[in-house]
Amino acid sequence: MDETVQKVRDFHGHLCAGVTIGIRAAQIALREIGPHSADEEVVVIVETDMCAVDAIQMLTGCTFGKGNLIHLDYGKNAYTFIRRSDGHAIRIISRPDGWPDDNPERQTLLERIKLGSASEVEQKRYWELQEERALAVLDLPEAQLFDVRQVAADVPKRARLNASVTCEECRETTMETRIRRFDGRNLCIPCFEKAEAR
Ligand SMILES: [Zn+2]
Ligand SMILES: [Zn+2]
Repeated sequence: MDETVQKVRDFHGHLCAGVTIGIRAAQIALREIGPHSADEEVVVIVETDMCAVDAIQMLTGCTFGKGNLIHLDYGKNAYTFIRRSDGHAIRIISRPDGWPDDNPERQTLLERIKLGSASEVEQKRYWELQEERALAVLDLPEAQLFDVRQVAADVPKRARLNASVTCEECRETTMETRIRRFDGRNLCIPCFEKAEAR
């Protein structure tokens, strides 16, 4: 197993096809858009919050905490990478028929794991098959895995530091832009939602 795959596996906690799909997408982005370095030059918009995103964060340097990884909860394996300097952007979307063939044994074992009835041996076998499938992704041609298109994308605003306000219900410090007014009080979103439901 090569060093990149090993590193991503350590970060993610296991090796699955999702994570290797993420590795392949990150490689395309690094080639076509370039790496993210010190000053937020690259932004990625991910339309899923699944395994692949861990590989993308680790390999491209676009991370949630830096504000240059934006999650849209659309449930699609689609990743749009945008270069700030010239607005060059690509959208990488995984093809429905791009994933490697699944082994029926893996699916049977997965069902048993979900039911909590898999033995230790069965669990071990499941992870063997899972890793096999993950590694198969690394050998598939790019054009089978993804559609890659140049797109026109708006360059997202840079992360800004906002003032903090104390929620008048839970007393927790909250970013000013997330405070909601209710009955003349400043509330954080969870407290606002509770107050509204009352
Ligand atoms: Zn995973
Ligand atoms: Zn609150």
